[in-house]
Amino acid sequence: MSRTVYVNGEYLPEAEAKVSIFDRGFLFADGVYEVTSVLNGKLIDFAGHAKRLERSLSELDMAAPCTMDELLDVHRELVALNQIDEGMIYLQITRGAATDRDFVFPPADTPPTIVLFTQSKPGLADNPVAKRGIKVITIEDQRWGRRDIKTVQLLYPSLGKMMAKAAGVDDAWMVEDGAITEGTSNNAYIVKGNTIITRNLGNEILHGITRAAVLRFATEAQLKVEERPFTLEEALAADEAFITSASAFVMPVVEIDGTAIGAGKPGPIATRLREIYLEESMKVAV
Ligand code: PMP
Repeated sequence: MSRTVYVNGEYLPEAEAKVSIFDRGFLFADGVYEVTSVLNGKLIDFAGHAKRLERSLSELDMAAPCTMDELLDVHRELVALNQIDEGMIYLQITRGAATDRDFVFPPADTPPTIVLFTQSKPGLADNPVAKRGIKVITIEDQRWGRRDIKTVQLLYPSLGKMMAKAAGVDDAWMVEDGAITEGTSNNAYIVKGNTIITRNLGNEILHGITRAAVLRFATEAQLKVEERPFTLEEALAADEAFITSASAFVMPVVEIDGTAIGAGKPGPIATRLREIYLEESMKVAV
């Protein structure tokens, strides 16, 4: 079935959707994005994604093409038109198409470009990978300094995934000044005893929507949370490790740089947090 996608106010078959070659997203990676997961045909934490989107736009002085309520309607319409039961909705907003290529921003009244499309992923919640866990390598974090803004500059994370693939593992954790920042497309955590340790918020990492929810659920489950930088050595000596993202939810990490973490299989805390996250976020899905 051909997907119906959304481009600048129109619902179109994917083959008919077009964006200008002068679009600043294409020429300068001058755009922001969000990925919201869909479970049972409903959006997980749309409010969190909308809030972060508004912040990303504002940090880059970029205009929002519509209100967040209108965006919610577009998300829901795409879920319905494409009959998405489990999967993701990708949303991208760029500074629009100027009349020519120029580093200087186009006039403020240039309409932003907005694109949304669905990705159907049956079995997203009941992912068998969560039962065996993933393996990661560590790589140097060579991204720009404003990783808190969710921009479409994803070349280095993409290279990181390819390095992981070449090493025969699932993903890469990035290291800067001796501390882990995050995964290529997820936040990184270790567990020592009853304490969950994850990088504190700042410009160095993306402020994960799943991270915020998981840390809240962890505290409610009487676990201790420490938000601070942690080193590779600490990670290798941890009892458990895991990642979070809107599409992976909570995913156990069982090996880092060839060393098994804890028992080398998904740990009880990551497993429990995945269950809690899925259960609680589905209850309030829209
Ligand atoms: N860090 C990075 C670099 C990411 O790309 C993502 C996923 N977009 C995350 C963390 C996780 O964020 P979220 O939980 O909002 O998906």
